[in-house]
Amino acid sequence: MTSEFTNPNLDLLYSAEQIKARVAELGAEITSDYAVRNLVLIGVLKGSCVFMADLMREIDLKLSIDFMAVSSYKDGTVSTGDVEILKDLTNPIREKDVIVCEDIVDTGLTLFRLTEILESKGANSIKIATLLDKPEPRVKKELKIDYCGFQIPNKFVVGYGLDAAGRYRNLPFIAAVKNPDKL
Ligand code: 5GP
Repeated sequence: MTSEFTNPNLDLLYSAEQIKARVAELGAEITSDYAVRNLVLIGVLKGSCVFMADLMREIDLKLSIDFMAVSSYKDGTVSTGDVEILKDLTNPIREKDVIVCEDIVDTGLTLFRLTEILESKGANSIKIATLLDKPEPRVKKELKIDYCGFQIPNKFVVGYGLDAAGRYRNLPFIAAVKNPDKL
């Protein structure tokens, strides 16, 4: 049987231990920032599921969670900024303090639009927590990222929730794909 975890087409970027340590730091920061507030974590499916599951266990506060699924319209491989809501929130967020949990910010267009949608639902405050941030300053300068795990090089990455055509979400680490033609 071949191992998915030792696939030679993957280049390790962050180990499970490094991710755990960084997520704990983010959780501690959020715990001190959000004391005595009405915190809701909103996970953007599917990529953020692993990050959010770990992050919420590092936040020592009363909180609730919800999920959204959106599809970003792309013009070729470039995000246009239009999003379609595939799954909406289950509960209202009026008067709540929201942290949107995302796996990776690339152009930032998806989150920019999503933030506008959440603002229209009457949240008290909206902040963004992303595990990874790619350097694409041209487009996303208007998007404020409040909590970021790691800034990464401009490579296609997988693992810890991030996929390539549905595969690799279960890797406990984050890796760059060496040869995208061989996925
Ligand atoms: P944006 O609107 O910021 O350009 O798009 C962000 C979305 O693109 C992420 O939520 C993710 O689904 C996808 N994405 C961008 N870069 C990567 C990457 O390196 N790996 C994976 N697996 N998805 C990515």
